Amino acid sequence: MKLETIAIHSGNQVDAATRAVIQPITLSTTFERGEDGSYPGGHVYTRASNPNRASLERVLTQLEGGDDALAFSSGNAAGGAVFQSLGSGAHVIAPDDMYHGLKKLLLEVYRGILAVDFLDLSDPANVRKAIRPETKLIWIETPSNPLLKITDIRAIADIAREHSCLVGVDNTFATPVFQRPLALGADLVMHSGTKYLGGHSDVLGGILVTKEKNDQWAKIRTVQELSGAVPSPFDCYMTVRGIKTLPYRMRGHYENASKLAAYLLRHPKVEQVYYPGLAGHALHEVAASQMCGFGGMLSFLVKGDAEAAHKVANSVKVFLQATSLGGVESLIEHRFSVEGPATKTPHNLLRVSVGLENIEDLIADLAQALDA
Ligand SMILES: *Cc1c(COP(=O)(O)O)cnc(C)c1O
Repeated sequence: MKLETIAIHSGNQVDAATRAVIQPITLSTTFERGEDGSYPGGHVYTRASNPNRASLERVLTQLEGGDDALAFSSGNAAGGAVFQSLGSGAHVIAPDDMYHGLKKLLLEVYRGILAVDFLDLSDPANVRKAIRPETKLIWIETPSNPLLKITDIRAIADIAREHSCLVGVDNTFATPVFQRPLALGADLVMHSGTKYLGGHSDVLGGILVTKEKNDQWAKIRTVQELSGAVPSPFDCYMTVRGIKTLPYRMRGHYENASKLAAYLLRHPKVEQVYYPGLAGHALHEVAASQMCGFGGMLSFLVKGDAEAAHKVANSVKVFLQATSLGGVESLIEHRFSVEGPATKTPHNLLRVSVGLENIEDLIADLAQALDA
């Protein structure tokens, strides 16, 4: 079946007892055993599995074209489960422009446990040079946060295969609507379900999808069950609900972002626009070869310093000045002040999560903010 149909039906089951069309939320933490000691309902205890979580995991498995999925209480818990499954002493190659929460997890929690090189993955040669016998994971984020850098997933997967290391892709920005990393050679896909999957800025969650149910996946499943960073049944329900409209929302985000990027590119007070859909983006051709749409995230540099960028962010009236992304409402954020002094993010960069408002209102809002 096609994406739109999967998004609506795969995460739902008509309730057998009441014939309710929408699957109810199963809050029970424990499930009754049969007389022979079996579990006829298929569930034992909600930390291990739950009907709403099973539905969320099923729809993501199908959307990403994988073999299985695991849901977590946040995107960081999902990424962290992969890192935790590697074992101490493993070497990890990660992007220099990486979601800063996951980068901090590697730097602060996995310090002394994993050896991590943060590299510019937009050039696959950098990966080839850095790979060593104990390299177990190459972590890709494309498009990346906040510079919208592009990594060639096929090229990195080819290098990884020669060295039998895993390739994991943070697919939060693109979503399976625009990019399916498993079909491009990746082993694992990660999402912050908090962003486009939930889509309404009101639920926290994370997902992993695997191409194959192998030994590494069994280790990750053990981390999920025993570390216990699992989403509540309500969170799973909310995410499944959001996913039903994901394909249509993503088209709207993409259309609005493309128009906003084109507008900003011509604006005299804008120094640079980072959006993979622009012909001038350094890796536009690679993006076009692995994505069927360029998504709803963009960043731009305001001419001047951090103060000039702050002034724009402080002057918007329709955009909300807040962190996060992927909701229906447009957000704008000065990333440098969120990421702190160690970051390479330019001081005059504003990141925009382009929402689903009318594009004319969004353009008019940024126009007045840039002239303020
Ligand atoms: C938000 C985000 C994460 C982390 O997800 P949480 O749900 O906040 O834990 C990871 N990667 C990317 C690209 C993100 O935007």
